[in-house]
Amino acid sequence: MRTSPLTSLAMKILVVEDTQSSLQLLCEIVSQQGHTPIPCQDGDTALELFKTERPDLVLLDVVLPGLDGFQVATRLRQMETHGDWTPILFLSVLNSDTDMARGIAAGGDDYLFKPISEVVLNAKIRAMQRIIQMRTSLVVLARRLDSANQELRRLSSVDGLTGIANRRQFDETMAREWRRTLRTQGELALLLCDVDHFKQFNDRFGHQAGDDCLRLVARSLAQTLDRGGDLAARYGGEEFAVILPDTRLDGALHVAERLRQAVLALAIPHPDSPHAVVSISIGAATLAACRSTPYQRLLRDADEALYHAKHQGRNRIAHLPLAVTG
Ligand code: GH3
Ligand code: MG
Ligand code: MG
Ligand code: MG
Repeated sequence: MRTSPLTSLAMKILVVEDTQSSLQLLCEIVSQQGHTPIPCQDGDTALELFKTERPDLVLLDVVLPGLDGFQVATRLRQMETHGDWTPILFLSVLNSDTDMARGIAAGGDDYLFKPISEVVLNAKIRAMQRIIQMRTSLVVLARRLDSANQELRRLSSVDGLTGIANRRQFDETMAREWRRTLRTQGELALLLCDVDHFKQFNDRFGHQAGDDCLRLVARSLAQTLDRGGDLAARYGGEEFAVILPDTRLDGALHVAERLRQAVLALAIPHPDSPHAVVSISIGAATLAACRSTPYQRLLRDADEALYHAKHQGRNRIAHLPLAVTG
């Protein structure tokens, strides 16, 4: 969308008038108001100049050699891309109500009968300028609103502490991926990851250090995933969920092992853990497409598997039917 800044009040005005003396007079009036006239005497040149000069306003005679003013206005409106608007002010000897109506229908914004009083023309130009400025402010506001909306959308899907996907985005993605799984008759995998002995980590180092640790773990999980459709989200507290679309159990276990190793490799000291560094336990589950099964089943299975990974000593991966690795 084009917007002229119009920071100063000066405008570029395309003046289309075939009679040399009238053209000169109009250009003088325009200049006296502090605007820059772009003079032109026929319709084709007017269309060219409109493209190259991008004027803020067009003063358009109707009776012209070649294309008449109505045709020029129609084409100018066709040339404007979505959201663009340049006011067109007709100046004509054709002074019937019907002529004026045709001018407005062709895309004109106002229509003055010749001979034109300088005072009236000046007033009309000022009025058009006011509308242009109002429109420019609206365009600027609309852009700001647009970027604020984008930011809001981003914030509503991102976890404030860790910067990865939040629970809301997780829920949406899960529902969407399950629908896709049903369409493709594929398989969906879920990993639930929980930081081991995290309460003790907080107790020893404080909540602030706990938060830092969660940020590192989250980043490591998100960065370790390398398939486009995979999603790591903060599920709650010190639990993270990883959605792996179109993935069977062996693939899911492979990813889970890489995630477990990645967190260990952060080497965040945890003196109260038997592993001496921060580790995670992972519950893995997969669900094959079946319309009668709710995808919440996947969450329940992964949660149950996680419970077993914890029970078997933590820093490991469990899946249903029960097996523990790592
Ligand atoms: P387990 O190995 O069985 O998972 O033991 P755990 O101590 O990690 O589990 P538990 O559920 O008992 O404790 C989780 C702790 O996570 C308790 C809470 O203080 C901490 N926690 C949850 N959310 C946050 C957070 O946003 N920031 C910090 N710093 N700590 C959190
Ligand atoms: Mg004429
Ligand atoms: Mg937990
Ligand atoms: Mg925990």
